[in-house]
Amino acid sequence: MAVSKTKPNEQIIEAYTAGQRRFGENYVQEGEEKVKSLSQDYPDIEWHFIGPLQSNKTKIIAGLFDWMHTVEREKIASRLNDQRPEHMSPLNVCIQVNISQEASKSGVTTAEIAALAEKIHLLPNLNLRGLMAIPSASVDNVTAIAELAELQKQYQRLSAKYPSVDTLSVGMSNDLELAVAHGSTMVRIGSAIFGARDYPKNGAISNQAQRLDK
Ligand SMILES: *Cc1c(COP(=O)(O)O)cnc(C)c1O
Repeated sequence: MAVSKTKPNEQIIEAYTAGQRRFGENYVQEGEEKVKSLSQDYPDIEWHFIGPLQSNKTKIIAGLFDWMHTVEREKIASRLNDQRPEHMSPLNVCIQVNISQEASKSGVTTAEIAALAEKIHLLPNLNLRGLMAIPSASVDNVTAIAELAELQKQYQRLSAKYPSVDTLSVGMSNDLELAVAHGSTMVRIGSAIFGARDYPKNGAISNQAQRLDK
């Protein structure tokens, strides 16, 4: 997946022209603008939402995106299900797992995966596809490897139970090789494709973006 957050439409089109079809966005407003402005001319782009989502914004994601990677609460799942338009196929969802167990990070604990998966599995307008995680920004590889191994174990357990589960969404520009070695089926690559992100000093995107990038 090419993570195009903060990057202009021209760069998305350039990547599209080179053959890329799967794009990820982090911010609701920015993602909404991009999908609306590009989906007519580029109907085969597959749009993935990979950022934090507040419950009052679920309708935008349900109405525009193909995938949602960061489900971590039943409330968000049921709102996405209720708001998914009838003419669209079920929204593909991953459960975000807080594999590094950092308080500042989003996601369920490994102990909570099974119960949330069961809830999602019962919602007809959602298609449970797998797990998503952001391992520790490797202070040392040992920590990241232990987290990735645990994530892979959880993923194998889930995919054994649900035939629809085929996606382990993990790995970014800096840890993609390690993630692939631990079973990632979908890496999310931003800066290694589009270059370093240059956040504006002001504006709605910048605060949230900077917070997330710490
Ligand atoms: C920004 C972001 C990425 C891409 O990060 P890079 O380090 O630029 O590859 C992947 N996943 C999530 C959830 C992100 O927020």
